[in-house]
Amino acid sequence: MAVTAELVAQVIEKIAPKSWAEDWDNVGLLVGSGTAPIERILITLDGTLEVVEEAKAYGAQLIVAHHPIIFRPLKNLRVDNAAAQVPLRLLQYQIGYYTAHTNLDQSIISSSRALGEVLGLTEMKILAEPADDHITLLQRDEQRGYGVSGYLPKPDKLGAVWKHFLGCLSRPGVFAQPYDLAGVRLAGSLENVVRKVAIVNGSGARFVQKALFIGADLLITGDVDHHTALDALEGGMAVGDLGHFLSEAPMLQAMFQYLSTDKFLQGIEIRVSLTNRPPWLWQI
Ligand SMILES: [Zn+2]
Repeated sequence: MAVTAELVAQVIEKIAPKSWAEDWDNVGLLVGSGTAPIERILITLDGTLEVVEEAKAYGAQLIVAHHPIIFRPLKNLRVDNAAAQVPLRLLQYQIGYYTAHTNLDQSIISSSRALGEVLGLTEMKILAEPADDHITLLQRDEQRGYGVSGYLPKPDKLGAVWKHFLGCLSRPGVFAQPYDLAGVRLAGSLENVVRKVAIVNGSGARFVQKALFIGADLLITGDVDHHTALDALEGGMAVGDLGHFLSEAPMLQAMFQYLSTDKFLQGIEIRVSLTNRPPWLWQI
């Protein structure tokens, strides 16, 4: 049985409409054809050459990714242009590439929410709703926005909470395969009590003030720079930096669940990439 790439897009856009994506973003089907027959789908955060090779070996006709591959203006398809290699290889193998990025980040299967569920937060709420949309969203009884906030079932000291969280991330099934947590960083006073936690997947540094404003004791995100960490500490909030990849990777399982239980995609084989991983080497 096969479906079209367009149908897969419609299933995803039912919960993450393309119109939600930021102006600077590039989402939707970026390579391939909407009418291409799809029998196997590979889910990934990044479209690397390794992932494209994995898709070919798996027999996938479509990659469903979080990060766009055509993002900074791609000015040519030269075989000696590093940025053109992935689109060229996809065309060569006739594999389509679909991206749900900032639209997915604001959806019910955002990686912030997926991570919040892994960490067992309760009373989860959207951290930052789009201001101009607030009334419309209330009217439609819909939730949309970046990040989540939630509470620990039992408040505890930061050190104990962080150890517990790392344990949660090591549980089987959280990721498609175990990842090294050696690059995870924590800034804060280990004795401080944590009740409320904010999570922003990917690069969430710009949400530090928002997290402080709602009274979070700990913000979990990725890509935290020196000055952002200091700003958070000045405000009395701890920061956990999982790295961009690990903060977003729990969403891959959420996407897998979502696609494999959709009634229109029954009979389609779906897998989460095993070659997609953080680019950093924590231990040499
Ligand atoms: Zn990201």
